[in-house]
Amino acid sequence: MHELSIAMEILEIVEREARNHGAGGVRSILLKVGDLSGVEISSLTYCFEAIRGEKEVTRDADLIVDRVAVRVRCRPCGESFPGHGPLVRCPACGGLDTELLEGDELNVVEIEVE
Ligand SMILES: [Zn+2]
Repeated sequence: MHELSIAMEILEIVEREARNHGAGGVRSILLKVGDLSGVEISSLTYCFEAIRGEKEVTRDADLIVDRVAVRVRCRPCGESFPGHGPLVRCPACGGLDTELLEGDELNVVEIEVE
């Protein structure tokens, strides 16, 4: 399952970071998930809670998910606006030459340790 492998990857990252900082335990993990990342958040949380006990440092860790809405930028006129995907029409000039600014990320951005 996709979300299970992501949850395992998060645990690996967090365990490594905690060890590097000599932390005894992790209290919470802040994860940024873009709406375009394709991740099912409820499924990811479920998988995370199912496996967090496998590692000593993450046993009591909470996974906090920060959802990131999609934002795109119009290349010709520089206008940025919310979108539902990479292909949207610019509200300022009507152009279709847009690029994704944010919304496809999947990153551990903060780890709170004890
Ligand atoms: Zn434009």
